[in-house]
Amino acid sequence: MRKFLNIHTIILALLLMSISSCGQHNQEIDIKHNDSMVYKSNDDWHKILTKEQYKVLREKETESPFTGKLLHNKEAGIYACAACGNELFTDKMKFDAHCGWPSFDNELSGGKIKKIEDNSYGMHRTEIVCAKCGGHLGHLFNDGPTSTGMRYCVNSLSLNFLPAAQTKNSIDTITLGGGCFWCVEAVYEMLDGVIEVSSGFSGGNISNPTYEQVCTEKTGHAEVVQIIYDTKKTNLTEILKVFFTVHDPTTLNRQGADEGEQYRSVIFFRNSTQQKVAQDIIDDLNKEKVYPQKVVTKVEPFTKFYAAESYHQNYYNLNKTKPYCKMVIQPKLEKFEKLFKNRLKKVD
Ligand SMILES: [Zn+2]
Repeated sequence: MRKFLNIHTIILALLLMSISSCGQHNQEIDIKHNDSMVYKSNDDWHKILTKEQYKVLREKETESPFTGKLLHNKEAGIYACAACGNELFTDKMKFDAHCGWPSFDNELSGGKIKKIEDNSYGMHRTEIVCAKCGGHLGHLFNDGPTSTGMRYCVNSLSLNFLPAAQTKNSIDTITLGGGCFWCVEAVYEMLDGVIEVSSGFSGGNISNPTYEQVCTEKTGHAEVVQIIYDTKKTNLTEILKVFFTVHDPTTLNRQGADEGEQYRSVIFFRNSTQQKVAQDIIDDLNKEKVYPQKVVTKVEPFTKFYAAESYHQNYYNLNKTKPYCKMVIQPKLEKFEKLFKNRLKKVD
């Protein structure tokens, strides 16, 4: 802890010097997501993929219906791109569409899947490809039977299934409130080891609050992000280090111009280990006087997380040109990228 703080102190001091520049960045800043793209020659893909996988993933062919090994798979776990390991879906998103291919009603957040207009074969369809390696996955239709209305129709050959039994011991979840959830979500989407980030509400006194209800400040909820992460690749200390880097934990119920109890700085712990890690970091930040003012971040027991409306999910990535994204979120991402440049998601 001591060693971490020494480095952290320097980083935070640098950071605090630049924090006042938030809002002045109105030029386009290139968030280099492309750095994590996987580029390989056709020869290299041939070495990695089977002949059948190559035809589907690289040549956009479609496997015969009702032949895929994952069609009837109902096991708990994660579905990843078979070419590069990019995690795309969970078992909870899978449903039986009776169409002959594995179907999902949603995707993991973070812009992991690219949608491309496809007018081949005289049809107007939306092709879905892996955003990391460009591998063809299948097509997306808006005739899904669940509340999302979406049907991701995916070739089994494009997917690798990772059973939960293999990964469950290394998966953990933490819920953090650091002001506007759009900002916090966008940052964690980029951290290596983070599997999923969802924006929502915690710490209030009614069930299933809407964003409008939370904004009235009568429900007591904070805007939070729920982070599911792989402890083999990251840990709570690193996640909290990012947390204390990208928001100001010294302003009570306020982040910049966003004011109100919903923007409070809070860590919702699920067990005594999380509580101790969080409290130790806060105590050390105060002891070392890393910030000019005292850290006001609350450490509270987690009770419930309510996902926010779908238009709040992945907000930054879908709304990059909006003024709030350019002026408030982009500078935070830029800062995060600079300080944690070796910890951004990448695939080798
Ligand atoms: Zn891929």
